Amino acid sequence: MSKVPTVKLNNGVEMPVLGLGTYKSQPNAVTKAVEDAIDAGYRHFDCAFFYDNEKEVGDGIQTKIKEGVVQRKDLFICSKLWNNTHSQQSVVPACRKSLELLQTDYLDLYLVHWPVGFKEGDELTPKTEDGKVATSDIDYIETWRGMEECARLGLARAIGVSNFNHEQLERILSVAEIKPTVNQVECNPNINQKKLIQYCKEHDIVVTAYCPLGKAAEARTKPGAPVASMEEPGVIEIAAKYKKTPAQVVLRYLIQHGVVVIPKSITKSRIIENIDCFDFTLDQKEMDYFDTLNKNIRLATFKDCKDHKYFPFNLEY
Ligand code: NDP
Repeated sequence: MSKVPTVKLNNGVEMPVLGLGTYKSQPNAVTKAVEDAIDAGYRHFDCAFFYDNEKEVGDGIQTKIKEGVVQRKDLFICSKLWNNTHSQQSVVPACRKSLELLQTDYLDLYLVHWPVGFKEGDELTPKTEDGKVATSDIDYIETWRGMEECARLGLARAIGVSNFNHEQLERILSVAEIKPTVNQVECNPNINQKKLIQYCKEHDIVVTAYCPLGKAAEARTKPGAPVASMEEPGVIEIAAKYKKTPAQVVLRYLIQHGVVVIPKSITKSRIIENIDCFDFTLDQKEMDYFDTLNKNIRLATFKDCKDHKYFPFNLEY
């Protein structure tokens, strides 16, 4: 039995509060990572067409189903609609493509990856002649109509968005026939998203935290990136108190902060480590300490699209 608690989405679907991230998990490593994760008790997998590894994620899931370790109904599989398929008629075919790659008949959750659409076609990141990203003006409300079709057709048990700000959510909510269940955004101690989480809570939308570990080692190599919270002396001290690792206390903070976490790892020992964060509770003082680390600094800035009318962030750096 999985030891990960679940949260109920606004349509009744249960979502495990911890899942395995798969962005930048190389295709030759992700199949094994998914198998190790299922063995360790993971039931939630965060995938996306853009990650270009959905077939290999699906292979790992199939192996564990064939071995009898899990059944499809025990799993929570999330995928995301990429930006080059934002027109309403492109959404259902794009969803079917992810289903084919993941080797499943339905998704548990399907998200609009970004509010900004790109030029349609085979290229994931199409470019203009002067080397900029070729965006489109398609309104994400149109895209949402396609997402609703996915839900009605039974291709996705729940639908939602990712990287939407609160005004964009408000616009969707004002016209939605099927409400978004989830908004997946960057959230870690460096950007704790308190206001957006509060807004989402008021509208019965669950927030999933991507980059929960601040992308760990990778973050340090980015110029201007803040110290990864796992390296903060205060975090290391709290970890020592509970005989846990910094990653475990960061994930614990986020879960107590009210969000779902999807740490990515292809390393078996870390996959096991990251799920082992449900046997202790941070006290209020420790939660308050984590809140002091907030700097509102993003690692995923999506800067190439900063001039687009649906660019979601207010970047001051
Ligand atoms: P994470 O914060 O999950 O960090 C992943 C990095 O941390 C990897 O380098 C991993 O290394 C390392 N790591 C994992 N566990 C530990 C540990 N216990 N101790 C030390 N290092 C560790 O960043 P991601 O950007 O991957 O975000 C998580 C997931 O969120 C993604 O994989 C993706 O599914 C989703 N995402 C969604 C986005 C969106 O736009 N909706 C954008 C970005 C991410 P290793 O694998 O080598 O073990």
